[in-house]
Amino acid sequence: MKRFKEKLVEFMSGRYGMDQLYYAMLLLALGIMMVNMKVDNLILMILSDGIILLMILRSFSRNISKRARENGKFLKIWNPVKRNVRIFIRRIKEIRVYRYRKCPNCKKTLQLPIKRGKNTVKCPKCQEKFNVRVIL
Ligand SMILES: [Zn+2]
Repeated sequence: MKRFKEKLVEFMSGRYGMDQLYYAMLLLALGIMMVNMKVDNLILMILSDGIILLMILRSFSRNISKRARENGKFLKIWNPVKRNVRIFIRRIKEIRVYRYRKCPNCKKTLQLPIKRGKNTVKCPKCQEKFNVRVIL
């Protein structure tokens, strides 16, 4: 077992290894596989196998700078998505306490305690006053 571990470390030295894109591809491939358990489609099977193959080839790659650039491109798209998902989840959790509205003047998102009906809100950033309607 120890020899195997040493050999693996030796094999992976100078190779790229895993990054965020690796895990994203893994999750994507697993997701496709789960869907494919229901629909049993050949194209989906080829697609998920292709993603896994590509994922493994990337991790074994010796062209580290190129792989890092790929990961950087992926993160550029993924990070804003992740941020929006986090904000969305937070708003759902706080739905009984706060409402969020954008200031029409400076576009800052304001966290407002729930006051049902029509209210006038003053933006703390730009002092603009605007109406907010909270129905539920
Ligand atoms: Zn404002």
